[in-house]
Amino acid sequence: MPDLRTRLVSGLVFPLQERLKKHSTVADRRAMEDSQWWPRERLEALRVQRLRALLTHAAAHVPYYRDLFARIGFDPAAVSSLTDLQRLPFLDKPLIRAHTDALKADDARGLARFNTGGSSGVPLIFYIGLERVSRDVAAKWRATRWWGVDIGDPEIVLWGSPIELGAQDRVRLLRDRLMRTRLLPAFEMSDAKVDSFIDEIRALRPKMLFGYPSAFAHIARHAQRQGVRMDDLGIKVVFVTSERLYDHQRTLIEQSFGAPVANGYGGRDAGFIAHQCPSGSLHITAEDVIVEIVDREGRVLPPGESGEIVVTHLATRDFPFVRYRTGDVGVVVAPDDAPCACGRTLPVLKEVQGRSTDFIVARDGTVMHGLALIYIVRDMPGVAGFRIEQESLDLTRVKVMTEPGFPADGDARIRAGMKARLGESVEVVVEHVAQIAAEGSGKFRYVVSKVAA
Ligand SMILES: [Zn+2]
Repeated sequence: MPDLRTRLVSGLVFPLQERLKKHSTVADRRAMEDSQWWPRERLEALRVQRLRALLTHAAAHVPYYRDLFARIGFDPAAVSSLTDLQRLPFLDKPLIRAHTDALKADDARGLARFNTGGSSGVPLIFYIGLERVSRDVAAKWRATRWWGVDIGDPEIVLWGSPIELGAQDRVRLLRDRLMRTRLLPAFEMSDAKVDSFIDEIRALRPKMLFGYPSAFAHIARHAQRQGVRMDDLGIKVVFVTSERLYDHQRTLIEQSFGAPVANGYGGRDAGFIAHQCPSGSLHITAEDVIVEIVDREGRVLPPGESGEIVVTHLATRDFPFVRYRTGDVGVVVAPDDAPCACGRTLPVLKEVQGRSTDFIVARDGTVMHGLALIYIVRDMPGVAGFRIEQESLDLTRVKVMTEPGFPADGDARIRAGMKARLGESVEVVVEHVAQIAAEGSGKFRYVVSKVAA
């Protein structure tokens, strides 16, 4: 039973704020709470119709797509199935970089500029319109309510983007207080900081936590070591996102906080792609997001097979994301294998592997950019591909695919470089492999899987 304060925020304050921002969030969320139960065919028809509308609009208003469709003879009005998408080329970060202006619709409303770092080290600048913001917020709101909590319930947000933390102006602070959201900087994870985070969580008694799995796992471990209980606070759910969630992290967090972990998958660029329900399925935001899984040659793979996740976001008329390559690897469950115990008909993503992350945490708690580790391997001769997996704060595994020219002392140099940044006591295992899974882009395929913290 939500308390009065939560009902006030969720039913009045937040809707008002969204309306002032010209977002249609409330209506969108209500519609999505209906369509999540629809028969599969009805949901599919909605998606085809939305895809046709997006591409038809793009042909009329987005220079990049106007030219592309003319060049390849694509008629968006004839789109009659989601597989028609396969006639279109992929969109990736270099393409967005090269055509940023031509990707803006000439009738775009309220475009906001975004900038992501990413493990390639090259920033990506893109734009998001009002429609898309509303839809992404609505999808997140819907998923929040799956867990019996709502906007306005006391919440701890553990986040680390310095850009967003910099935007902590007074309006934002006031809003956060009203919404009962407390933001803690996941950036600083020294022992003293973590002690103070634990005190704050205990004092606020939040109903929900939101942040990086590695950061909550770090806090959970620390609390256990100090003998501090966190499972007596009434926390109902721990929302994690933005990194790969490892099983051992899930177990640790659930034990320590006495609440289930709910995994979310998405990003500023690709949108709110999928979220876990209490029955355990990672449900795709099917009303807005079409997920394709493709192999290294770009061929679409059938359900059940693992490949790169490619998304088309249907609410992106102002700056279309059509067949956008995420660089993440995942598997879609075949619809007939997917009926979820929760009853929602939204398609299911089986797993997301090897999400590259921006930040790495060293043994002593120092947080650094993933590039600090990438450089060590990438700049070495004879390296054709690599993958860095930080399995725990004490163990990092480096998989390298080598070619002629790899130095005789290459392994030792990689180990030394990693230890210099992660900590001398950290065990670094270098493994030579024949292949690295297709992730990342450009000349090198690599990923940094961060865990720990
Ligand atoms: Zn479900």
